[in-house]
Amino acid sequence: MRIVLMGPPGAGKGTQAKRLVDEFGMTHLSSGDIFRAEKASGSQLGREIDEYMAAGHLVPDKVVVDVMTKAITSSPNGAGLLLDGFPRTVPQAETLDAQLARAGKPLDAVVIINAEERLIVERITGRRVCPKCDKVYHVKNMPPRRDGVCDECGTALIQRADDVESVVRRRLAAYYRQTAPVVDYYRRRKDLRLMEFNGAASAETVAAEIVRALKGPRPKC
Ligand code: AMP
Repeated sequence: MRIVLMGPPGAGKGTQAKRLVDEFGMTHLSSGDIFRAEKASGSQLGREIDEYMAAGHLVPDKVVVDVMTKAITSSPNGAGLLLDGFPRTVPQAETLDAQLARAGKPLDAVVIINAEERLIVERITGRRVCPKCDKVYHVKNMPPRRDGVCDECGTALIQRADDVESVVRRRLAAYYRQTAPVVDYYRRRKDLRLMEFNGAASAETVAAEIVRALKGPRPKC
C-alpha cells in the first residue's frame, strides 16, 4: 500500500504515521524527520535546509525532490510506503506521481487529517521533544513525570525552534497557501482514494477510523 499522509502541522500526522506503520508495516518516510537528521549530520545541505525550517518556510522544491527521491528509491521494495509531510506543493506532487508511475507503483490513497488553527497552535507550542531518543511530550496533555526531563532516558527536553508561536503561524500560512492546493490536486484524481479525518478527536479514535477506512472496500466511482 502506498499512502500520502497530509494535514497542517500539529494535526497529528506523526502519531498516526506510527500507528499505520504498526498496522500495515509499510516504510515510513517523514520529510521533516529526514531534514532534521540531515541537519544533525552537520552537512552543508543540512545547514541550508535548516535556514528554511527554522524560519517556518518551505524548503525549495528542488532540494525536497532530490532528498525524497533518494529516500524513496532506497526504501525496501514491496513493503509499501507511507509518505508523511511530502508532497507539500503541487510541483512536488507532480514529480512524485511521475516517479511512481515510472516504477509502476502509483499511490493507493491520500489520508488528510484536518485541525483548526487554535488547536494546532495550542498543540505545537506546548510540544517538547527529547533530543536524544526523540520521544514527544506536551506540557499539558502529555507531561513527563519530572518537569522538563525525558521519562525514557533522563535527557533535558527541548522545544523545537520551529515550534514557537510566531514560526507556527508562518508554517500554517505556508500550509494554506502552498499545501492546500495539493489536496485539490489529489481530489481531481479519480484513480486514488482521498480520505479526510478530524484531527481534533483522540489519537485512538483517529487511528481506528483511518485503519477502518483503509481496510474497507474501494468505493466505486
Ligand atoms: P514537519 O516536521 O513535517 O512539520 O516539517 C518541518 C519543516 O520541514 C517544515 O516546516 C518545512 O520547513 C520543512 N519541510 C518538511 N517537508 C517539506 C516539504 N515536503 N516541502 C518543503 N519543506 C518541507
